[in-house]
Amino acid sequence: MTAETPITQDVLTIPRKLPEGEGGKVNLIGLTRTALREALIEAGTPEKQAKMRVNQIWQWLYHWGVREFEAMTNLAKPYRALLAEKFTIDLPEIVSKQVSADGTRKYLVRIAGGHEVEVVYIPETDRGTLCISSQVGCTLTCSFCHTGTQKLVRNLTAGEIVGQIMLARDDLDEWPAPGTGTGDNGPRLLSNIVLMGMGEPLYNFDNVRDAMKIAMDGEGIALSRRRITLSTSGVVPEIAKCAEEIGCLMAVSFHATTDEVRNKLVPINKRWNIEQLLNALREYPRLSNSERITFEYVMLKDVNDTDADARRLVKLIQGIPAKINLIPFNEWPGAPYQRSDWERIERFADIVHKAGYASPIRTPRGEDIMAACGQLKSATERARKSRAQIAQDAGL
Ligand code: SAH
Ligand code: SF4
Repeated sequence: MTAETPITQDVLTIPRKLPEGEGGKVNLIGLTRTALREALIEAGTPEKQAKMRVNQIWQWLYHWGVREFEAMTNLAKPYRALLAEKFTIDLPEIVSKQVSADGTRKYLVRIAGGHEVEVVYIPETDRGTLCISSQVGCTLTCSFCHTGTQKLVRNLTAGEIVGQIMLARDDLDEWPAPGTGTGDNGPRLLSNIVLMGMGEPLYNFDNVRDAMKIAMDGEGIALSRRRITLSTSGVVPEIAKCAEEIGCLMAVSFHATTDEVRNKLVPINKRWNIEQLLNALREYPRLSNSERITFEYVMLKDVNDTDADARRLVKLIQGIPAKINLIPFNEWPGAPYQRSDWERIERFADIVHKAGYASPIRTPRGEDIMAACGQLKSATERARKSRAQIAQDAGL
C-alpha cells in the first residue's frame, strides 16, 4: 500500500467547448426544461407557445427517443425546419460493445474532443442496472481503483451523462412503440441507474443534477429517484445538496474503519475524515429504512478485512439506516492489492449481518470484459503514449 497517496493526482484537465453541437448549433440533449425553453425563445419561438413546444419536444426526445426534427410530426413543417437550423440532437457515440458471458454489456462511448468513457449494463432477472460515468477519469487517487490512475480528466456535460442512458436504451431497443407507454411491455430492461462508473459525481455536481432531473422527468425517461443511486468517495459538503437537489439514493465508498487505513485507500479522507463523513450521512435528508445509505466496502486481503474491522464498521455506522455492500476486489493489471479470500469475505459479511445490517456480497459481473467495479479505464487512454500526445489529441 502506498504510504502517501496524494488526494488529487497530477491531472491534465481538459476544457470543454460545449454545449454547442456541430456548426455552432446548440445541442438540445442535456438542456433542462428551463434551459430548453430559453433556447427555443432565443431561436424565435413566441413566448406564449414556449411551454407547449418544450413539452412536445421533450416527449419526442426523451419519451420516444426520436433523433430527427423531421420526425416530430406534431410540429408544423416550418417550425421543424427552424429547429433543424438552430439545434442538433447529439448523443455520444458507441465505439464498441462487449458482451460478457454473464450477459453484462460494456460500451465504450466517445464524447466530444475524442475522449472516451465506459458504460456498463448489468441485466438481472426482473430489472437491469446501468452504471454510468460522470467524468473522463477521476481526479481522486483511490489506491485500489483503476480509474484513479487515469491522468486525463474532464467533466462530462449533462447531455453526455443522460446520453449514456439514451444510448443504452437504443442498444436494448427499449423506446416505447407508438401508442404505448414506457414499461407497458413488462419490467423495464433498464430500470435502475447507478452513478458508479468513472469519476466522482459530486465533483461534477451541476451536470450530474441536470442529467438526473432529465432522467427522472415523468414525461420522458421517467426513472424514479429511488431507482437512481449516486456513489461518492465522500465529498462531504456536497452530500446534503445531493439529497436536496437530486433526491436520489446515496452510496458511499467507505472501505476502511480507521482514518489511518482510509487515508491510504481513499485519500479524500485526509480532507474529510470518517467522523465528518458519518456526520454528514447521519443528517442525510429523507434517511429512513426504505431509503438507506449503501456503504460500499471493497474487500482487500490483509488490508481491511479482519473481524475487528467488521465489528468497528458496525459500531461506526450505528444509528444510520444502512446496508453494507461488500465488493470483492476486482483486480486490474498492476494493481497493488489482492482480493480477500472467499471465506474471509463470508465471515466479514456474517458479522455485519448479525449486527442487523443487510450485507450482500456483490457478485463480480462482467469480469471477463473488465467491466467490474473499479476496472473501468478506456483502452485508448491506457494505450496513449504520452501526456503531450493526449494534449495534442484534445486539440490543446
Ligand atoms: N467515484 C465514486 C463512484 C465510482 S466508483 C466513488 O468512488 O464512490 C464505484 C465503486 O467501485 C466505488 O465504491 C469504488 O470504491 C469501487 N471500486 C473502485 N475500484 C474497485 C476495484 N478495483 N474493485 C472493487 N471495487 C472497486
Ligand atoms: Fe475516483 Fe471513485 Fe475511483 Fe476513487 S474510487 S479514484 S473517487 S472513481
